[in-house]
Amino acid sequence: MTETETSKETNREPIRSSEIDPKFKYELSRMHGSEKILKCFQCGTCTSDCPVARYSDNYRPRQIIRMAQLGLRDRVLNSDTLWLCAACFTCTDRCPQDVEVASVIRVLRNLAAEKGCAPAVFKEQASSVLESGYAYKIPELRVKKRETQGLPPLPKGNPENIRKSLKGVKFIEAVEKTGEPQ
Ligand code: SF4
Ligand code: SF4
Repeated sequence: MTETETSKETNREPIRSSEIDPKFKYELSRMHGSEKILKCFQCGTCTSDCPVARYSDNYRPRQIIRMAQLGLRDRVLNSDTLWLCAACFTCTDRCPQDVEVASVIRVLRNLAAEKGCAPAVFKEQASSVLESGYAYKIPELRVKKRETQGLPPLPKGNPENIRKSLKGVKFIEAVEKTGEPQ
């Protein structure tokens, strides 16, 4: 079973009362970006207009919002599908209730990252930004190839400044946090 299939199954499993955290939606409604989550009335416009949902059997922003409203904290924060959002903001533009869906997803991702639940690929990118200033480590071979092609050297990354800018927003702590999703 693939990761995506696992996530799909998890989202469709019956809800147990022990999973429900009734305070979760109120916590979210106090966070910047997810203030209007309680206004969602599940019309499905966000899902029907989402370009990622169009090509995925599993990614449904409406479902993510509903899981959060229901207080399924761990289920939503451990969900792989949370990381499929392309942050295009179409959902936010179209929501008839002014729910900032893309921002809610950002808030949920931040909470997931704080728990150490970010997928490895994002952790690697974030570590690379902190180390080199680039989201991807540029292979030495590519640097040499640029030289042979007469291309100018790539601008030097400035990880010190990046670290300074990210101090205080828990980014570094989230990146350094290891462990599997809880
Ligand atoms: S478009 Fe807005 S109201 Fe409709 S399901 Fe999505 S978040 Fe909820
Ligand atoms: S921001 Fe994310 S959830 Fe919203 S439409 Fe774009 S890809 Fe879909």
